[in-house]
Amino acid sequence: MKIFCIGRNYAKHADELGNEIPDEPIVFMKPKSALVQGHTPFYYPEFTNELHYEAELVLRISKNGKYIQEKHAANYYNGISVGIDFTARDIQTKLKEQGLPWEKAKAFDNSAAVGKFIDLTPAIDIKAINFSFEKNNEVVQKGNSREMIFSIDKIVSHISNYFSINIGDLIFTGTPAGTGECMVGDSFKGYFEKEEVLSLEIK
Ligand code: ZN
Repeated sequence: MKIFCIGRNYAKHADELGNEIPDEPIVFMKPKSALVQGHTPFYYPEFTNELHYEAELVLRISKNGKYIQEKHAANYYNGISVGIDFTARDIQTKLKEQGLPWEKAKAFDNSAAVGKFIDLTPAIDIKAINFSFEKNNEVVQKGNSREMIFSIDKIVSHISNYFSINIGDLIFTGTPAGTGECMVGDSFKGYFEKEEVLSLEIK
C-alpha cells in the first residue's frame, strides 16, 4: 500500500507557513512503515526538536485505477478518517531552504497516524465534511472539506495521472490552519463531525 499526502491544500495554512497558494496539488508520499493505526503509542523521534502535528482528513482507496477523471473519482474511495501528518518542522525547514526532498521530515516511522475509518454512504457529502482536532482537550484545528483548495475528487484524479492507485492506499488531504508543536505527554483526539475517530499520546 501507498500513502499519498497533499501539501498546502488550505489557504490559511499555506499562509501561516509563508507559502504561496499552489496552482496544482503538491503531492508527496510516506512509506508503509510510517503508518500508525489503533492505539499504538507515538514516541517522540530523537532527530528532531520541533515535531509538529498536522490534522487531516484521510481517504481510503477502494478500487484500483489510473488516469481517473474527476467526475468518476468518487467510485475509487469508500472510507474517510482523521489522521496526523507528523512533521519534523526544523528538518523540513532546512531541507526546503536547500531545495532537497522532504522524506526525512515527513516520511519517518510512525509519521502517518490514522484513526478509525468511517464508511462513506450517500448521506455523507464529501464536499462538506467537518473535522476537528484537540490537543490536551482543547480544539487546536478545525476544518471543512469545502475549504480545500483542491477538492477530494480533484486530488484523486491528479494523483492517478502520475501513480496507479490501489485498494488500501491512503490519501492525506492536507491540513487546515492551526498546526503546532507536540511535546512528550501531549494527548491528541481527532473528530469526524462529532465522532471521535482518533486518539493518540506522545511518549
Ligand atoms: Zn500535511
